Amino acid sequence: MATDYYGVLGLARGASDTEIKRAYRKMARDLHPDVNPDPGAKERFGEVSRAYEALTDPEKRRIIDLGGDPYETGGGRGGSPFGNAAGFGGLGDIMDAFFGGAGGGRGPRGRTREGEDALIRVELDLDETVFGTTTEVTVDTAVLCDVCTGAGTAPGTHPETCSTCNGRGEVQSVQRSFLGQVIASRPCPTCQATGQVIPNPCPKCAGDGRVRSRRTIPVKVPAGVEDGMRIRLAGYGEVGPGGGPAGDLYVEVRERPHDVFTRDGEDLHCRVTLPMTAAALGTTLKLETLDGVEDLTIKAGTQSGSVLTLRAHGAPRLRGTGRGNLLVHLDVQTPTRIDGRQSELLRELAGLRGEDLTDGNSANHGGLFTRVRDAFNGR
Ligand SMILES: [Zn+2]
Ligand SMILES: [Zn+2]
Repeated sequence: MATDYYGVLGLARGASDTEIKRAYRKMARDLHPDVNPDPGAKERFGEVSRAYEALTDPEKRRIIDLGGDPYETGGGRGGSPFGNAAGFGGLGDIMDAFFGGAGGGRGPRGRTREGEDALIRVELDLDETVFGTTTEVTVDTAVLCDVCTGAGTAPGTHPETCSTCNGRGEVQSVQRSFLGQVIASRPCPTCQATGQVIPNPCPKCAGDGRVRSRRTIPVKVPAGVEDGMRIRLAGYGEVGPGGGPAGDLYVEVRERPHDVFTRDGEDLHCRVTLPMTAAALGTTLKLETLDGVEDLTIKAGTQSGSVLTLRAHGAPRLRGTGRGNLLVHLDVQTPTRIDGRQSELLRELAGLRGEDLTDGNSANHGGLFTRVRDAFNGR
């Protein structure tokens, strides 16, 4: 039975490209193995990625819309874009596992195959991940051979039919099995099941159709990306054997730690230390944020550990609109070295407030416990 690829993404048949993209992005963000350690999520992620891949490929989508399954014909590449392309597909694979290829009737396979996906990491500063940037990555990859443009043949020559298998791509032998005698066919070792050999390989790529090359690729990083997220550059992976279509390049973002701000999703955090007197009397501070200098109003009587929120000074939300907040954690500093005059003033202050410094029992405040409680209540 054909898989309901629309249903896997929670969509109705005939959903638009935008709806497909949106549904995939939402699910991939919840299920990606980097963020969701649940083994069930990994499997779901594979299904979701496969459905997305199928629905964004015009030819595969045409087959789906006609009621078929592009992965059941053997024409698809199967697997998710994260490289776990192996695994059992249809009945042919199961027959292969028992008999080394008794599925039969599949004929020679093309010399051209799709290229591998590639992954590269890029380190970015906090202001680059928050506001987005354009950067470059340099990758060593396989590109199309410019001498033979992927054909693998020396100029002016052509592939020839393989004489071992007469172009069928497979060779047959009789095997005994628990089902009795079966004629098993296996891929032709001479031509790697392609049915063709190249008598005069291209001098540059030795017949592979591709060569190693270093290339520099511009990458647009959207505002709000987080550490560990991957940006997909379709068609920037390795060119396949025989000059086959290139895989995709995934650019994984690594966010460098910032001197002042730490990040928690769309919110930023920082710590500010206040002198005891400023916390008691109140003041206005200049705080350097990613958006420039902001006035931070400290109310009189501010307690250590309190948090001020600067709305919309965090990172943009990748899903939805708007920005997160900047949370400023305040640490009130008790002076460690005070001279005689300062000590005198503090004693006088304590006296005025009825605070007994010699023992924990103050008549006015009902003992140490009450004072601890009052401190928490912000009195
Ligand atoms: Zn070549
Ligand atoms: Zn052959």
